[in-house]
Amino acid sequence: MKNIAFVLILSLSTGAIFAQSETVKTEITATELAPGNHRLFVDNRVSVVVHAGNDGVLVIDAAYERTGNDLLAAINSISNKEIRFLINTHMHGDHTGGNAVIGKGAHVIAHPGVKKFLAGGDKAKPDETAHGLPDITTTGNMTLDFNGETIEITHLPGGHTDNDLVVYFPASRVVVTGDLLFAGYFPYVDVGNGGNPLTYLKNVEWIINTYPDDATFSGGHGPVFSKKEYKTWLSALNETIDVLRKAKSQGMDAAQMKSAGLLNDWASFGAFFITGDRWIDTLYPFL
Ligand SMILES: [Zn+2]
Ligand SMILES: [Zn+2]
Repeated sequence: MKNIAFVLILSLSTGAIFAQSETVKTEITATELAPGNHRLFVDNRVSVVVHAGNDGVLVIDAAYERTGNDLLAAINSISNKEIRFLINTHMHGDHTGGNAVIGKGAHVIAHPGVKKFLAGGDKAKPDETAHGLPDITTTGNMTLDFNGETIEITHLPGGHTDNDLVVYFPASRVVVTGDLLFAGYFPYVDVGNGGNPLTYLKNVEWIINTYPDDATFSGGHGPVFSKKEYKTWLSALNETIDVLRKAKSQGMDAAQMKSAGLLNDWASFGAFFITGDRWIDTLYPFL
């Protein structure tokens, strides 16, 4: 794998009256997953996959709104061809925030739930393509012939959200899982938007059982995983469920589970976004 670090400078002006400016650096690290498939890790937090070839560029996820221009510059430095497609793995702002910039003039593919969410602001309904709203939606399976590959897009409902898509590149054996992989960490499960932690783990199991053993798994957050690493992560999460389910059956409530330190063996999993205590709160109603 080849790593290249881009450090791009974004200037923010705070307005005419208070004519100050500050400089914000977006650190974007590029890794070549396979020939033509690159992973951009934005701000060391969220991943974007760039598939470039003779037909043009396909991008999976658009990171944050604030990093849109820097991300576009990083994509253009990988390939100067046109961005033809942007796929959103799901609705969240760390994956769709840059849609207006990255998806401008491109087809944007997502589950209809993403379109509904993005169109639901209080502003007047924007022109779709110019604002990066999805113009191609899928609730099942679809394929896209692009750059000599038949790219497979699959909707796996009810895990992280109700609108999760997984994208597979068979020729390069790269699987882009969106937030069905928080590599090395407790996952965020958006119960308010149709997510369910137990379905989440079933969907992860489906991904592991469906794609080849030598595939590379690029999740929304954390490092790229091999299948072996993905399986180990799933087993660890299933162990946490076993521990908490047993405790609940013995009469413990969530507060008692936290004060008893039941997830102390997995302390490193709480270092990114979802702490051990939040993972207990997420799981407790489903145990
Ligand atoms: Zn998410
Ligand atoms: Zn995310």
